[in-house]
Amino acid sequence: MNIEKFRVPEGKKLNLKNHQTDFTADYTEKTFAVKDLKKNIKRLRKLQKVLYAHNRYALLIIFQAMDAAGKDGAIRHVMSGLNPQGTQVFSFKKPSAEERDHGYLWRCMKALPEKGRIGIFNRSYYEDVLVVRVHPAILASSQLPREIKHDPNIWEQRFEQIRNFEKYLFENGTRVVKFFLNLSKDEQKRRFLARIHTPEKNWKFSTADLKERGYWNDYQNVYTDALQNTSSANSPWYVIPADHKWFARMAISEVIAQKLESLDLQYPQVDDDHMERLKDAKEILQNGG
Ligand code: ATP
Ligand code: MG
Repeated sequence: MNIEKFRVPEGKKLNLKNHQTDFTADYTEKTFAVKDLKKNIKRLRKLQKVLYAHNRYALLIIFQAMDAAGKDGAIRHVMSGLNPQGTQVFSFKKPSAEERDHGYLWRCMKALPEKGRIGIFNRSYYEDVLVVRVHPAILASSQLPREIKHDPNIWEQRFEQIRNFEKYLFENGTRVVKFFLNLSKDEQKRRFLARIHTPEKNWKFSTADLKERGYWNDYQNVYTDALQNTSSANSPWYVIPADHKWFARMAISEVIAQKLESLDLQYPQVDDDHMERLKDAKEILQNGG
């Protein structure tokens, strides 16, 4: 599948209105996409094995979206075939008192995947240019110095900090892929109502979600600005159509598989010395050792 359509080009203006939320490419039926998702999960399993053995790269996958866009389900499905030893998922909620005593990147830095691993951020440092921008009271009550809080360039500065941070990651072997699950306001309403109507889903609904929905347009604006300022050739954003969960999951698995395939992953080569020792061990074992 051509994933270029979803990628936000570096340095270009982004208009989310040009990204159809219910897009399904050539899939006329859910079952076909589910089949392809299964194939991709197998592909990912093989790629993860060699990523782990090679132990030179790490992959960081970032998920950002409005509530009920399907982050959790996407993470669950896409990671389902992987070896848990080589993966990790961190969710970033409202910062704790300790986290607020540090710069906003700190808690995410502590959670970065080590070499050979796939790390997922369910929300991330991007919240600090999204929710914090939509609700000025969060910044106002933060422990930043006055002159920084009131600097009109604060968002520009943060974009630059993020670009630099991701450049640092890239230049040290961590590849970053970022997904914005692009949900329509109507579909969000349907999913909220389903959470209210279905007893097993009740726990998923919080009135805070309804409050954030009231800021829908503000969120669309800050997402647009964040994506267009932080999508780079090496750490691209992908706008994933999210009205159909089955399509979003398949598309995400495809992007991740292609990213891993683009790396020069190899199983470690053993040297002649090591080969000799293997031969010796084989003889010992075969001769009753
Ligand atoms: P789900 O609702 O599917 O369980 P979620 O990611 O929405 O997943 P919640 O516990 O509902 O999890 O919400 C986390 C909340 O924390 C979000 O509203 C998010 O905007 C907020 N949050 C995350 N980071 C920050 C931050 N740095 N400052 C303020 N709020 C933040
Ligand atoms: Mg939520």
